[in-house]
Amino acid sequence: MRLILLGPPGAGKGTQASRLVELYKIVQLSTGDMLRAEVAAKSAIGLEAKAIMDRGELVRDDILVAMIAHRIDQDDCRHGFILDGFPRTIAQADSLALMLSNKGMNLDVVIELKVDDAALLARIEKRVADDAASGRSVRADDNSETLKKRLLAYRQQTAPLVSYYEAKGLLNSIDGMQPVDVVWQDITTILAEK
Ligand code: AMP
Repeated sequence: MRLILLGPPGAGKGTQASRLVELYKIVQLSTGDMLRAEVAAKSAIGLEAKAIMDRGELVRDDILVAMIAHRIDQDDCRHGFILDGFPRTIAQADSLALMLSNKGMNLDVVIELKVDDAALLARIEKRVADDAASGRSVRADDNSETLKKRLLAYRQQTAPLVSYYEAKGLLNSIDGMQPVDVVWQDITTILAEK
């Protein structure tokens, strides 16, 4: 099972991906998490990516493509993976298609979580408040100023992937504003049909 979870920041991709990891015993590849690990390690990539992430902009395609290419070659990905936060541009999607076909692999499905901008802002603000209240560290890019830029990046650079994958017959869209368990039910229904 190789699938992409597509959706704006705060749409619930991470939550649903964790459930998929449990159910299908496949790995979650979150490029946001990978980049945050690079930032924490102060690697060359991390040093370059930090300011871009803090501004809510997208990190260079070639960095992300190299990161994913390296990751999917690892042994734990042989049964499948969930791409969470990648691809985010058409160029990344084209590179992914090439990468997979070179390995004789294919994508099974793309699931889009649709959520409107006002709901996203409310969700992220709640995440920040909850994290602060429970003493967890708040993500540097979780604030309404940066979120607006992340949403703009999504609408301008990532949303074109919806029609890209629709044209390939891979797209399934779900109303991401439903309760988490209903979204989960919709996802498992889609996957059961694959
Ligand atoms: P996320 O945790 O997926 O919201 O990602 C956090 C930040 O990491 C994004 O706002 C981008 O700056 C960067 N990032 C994550 N994935 C990608 C990607 N596929 N392409 C470009 N930048 C990315």
